Amino acid sequence: MQNHEDAPAAAPRTVDVFTTVSRLRAAFDTGRTKPLPWRRGQLEALRKLLEEQAGTFREALRSDLGKGATEAFSTEIGFTLNEIDHTLGHLEQWLRPRRVPVPASLAPARARTVREPLGTVLIISPWNYPLQLALAPLVGALAAGNCAVVKPSELAPATSAALARLLPRYLDPQAVTVVEGGVPETTALLEQRFDHIFYTGNGTVGRIVMAAAARHLTPVTLELGGKSPAVVEPGTDLAAAARRIAWGKFMNAGQTCVAPDYVLAVGEAADEIVPHLASAVRAMYGDDPAASPDYGRIVNDRHFDRLTALLEDGRAVVGGGHDRADRFIAPTVLADVDPDSPVMREEIFGPILPVVRVPDLDAAITFITERDKPLALYAFTASAHTKHRLTTETSSGALAFGVPNAHLAVPGLPFGGVGESGLGRYHGELSVETFSHTKAVLDKPLFPDTLRLAYPPFTRLKERL
Ligand code: NAD
Repeated sequence: MQNHEDAPAAAPRTVDVFTTVSRLRAAFDTGRTKPLPWRRGQLEALRKLLEEQAGTFREALRSDLGKGATEAFSTEIGFTLNEIDHTLGHLEQWLRPRRVPVPASLAPARARTVREPLGTVLIISPWNYPLQLALAPLVGALAAGNCAVVKPSELAPATSAALARLLPRYLDPQAVTVVEGGVPETTALLEQRFDHIFYTGNGTVGRIVMAAAARHLTPVTLELGGKSPAVVEPGTDLAAAARRIAWGKFMNAGQTCVAPDYVLAVGEAADEIVPHLASAVRAMYGDDPAASPDYGRIVNDRHFDRLTALLEDGRAVVGGGHDRADRFIAPTVLADVDPDSPVMREEIFGPILPVVRVPDLDAAITFITERDKPLALYAFTASAHTKHRLTTETSSGALAFGVPNAHLAVPGLPFGGVGESGLGRYHGELSVETFSHTKAVLDKPLFPDTLRLAYPPFTRLKERL
């Protein structure tokens, strides 16, 4: 793996960025992106890119994150292919105008809604799933008929470079551009006027994005993170729950926005689940996870140092080992964690899983609702009553029983946060909605003139009607 942190910061290129965005806006104004065949053609080209260049992207993901080939395919390349296929399968139907009933007082008339593209949009993506999180929003932007600037994360430089090199070769270069770079380039981009900004990353930068968007009254989608709890109740199959939790937590070395951040275990489940988590980790990554081809690495030294400091906030009952030279942190489970310690205050975003004990479900619900609304809430319970209570008494971007992370792979489910975990939602039809304006169209014939009663002067007779 390369160390990406020593790369010199590039100078802002406001003028270049202005030219780039103006060129895309001019292309949009020609109307080239609006016809359905253009949209389908772009999605098919994106599919071809992923199929033909899968090897390049796998290599880039290994270089950036030590991502194994199978995980790179299932969570990035294959995931995006599914999103493309689902969109291609439904796009015509999603773009069909929708009839809306007209009240009798306005009859005769016809009303419908029509989805129209917004124009030129900006997609800013993070480093943890650097391919999926750049391309899945792009699927929506193209399907909706927009031009797009894609700004990949500078912290995943190999994937960023591959996208910059390959996207213009497969997609319409007049309509899609990649701008590489970090804070100076993104800042320069944010000075431009876009018709939508789609940002995935942390809440601090999310606020910068929203403030910049406000200057142009540009709508935003903010796909943010947070601490997603996994509630575990006694009486559930703890071995099975531990396998699912370990799978969701330790994929991509815990650097997954929807990964279970911590286990919120009710009563004795707190102690009982630990040996099952240990067995699950061993079964998935062997006795020496550092040697497993399926276990990733921490993205950079800054995050490595942040995470190893968090290891001090509890007692490692599974894992705990680390190696800075390799940016390796073993899959780790922490017990005896103080709920007010840093590991329980900030999003962990790494392979450290605290287990917090609460006496009962009431305490678990209070624990969740007293904190920021999570991106996802998971629960492992055999009780329908518990499911009902969690559904009605807590708020989160998503709620999943029995499995973490998998709701992303259901294209019909909205994906997005609430409160601190984000604003807006996408995937499937909701991506098209995000990147479209739903226009109201009303068509009323001039004859017969049924509005005569609505015209002044308002005589007593009209008022009575
Ligand atoms: P990151 O550091 O790669 O930043 C994301 C993007 O913001 C990058 O393109 C970066 O260039 C840009 N950026 C960074 N600083 C900026 C600044 N000052 N001004 C303008 N742009 C700036 O990624 P990250 O934020 O570390 O990503 C991790 C976070 O993202 C976690 O909180 C995680 O939960 C969240 N996340 C959310 C989702 C989701 O879909 N909801 C997915 C992945 C990650």
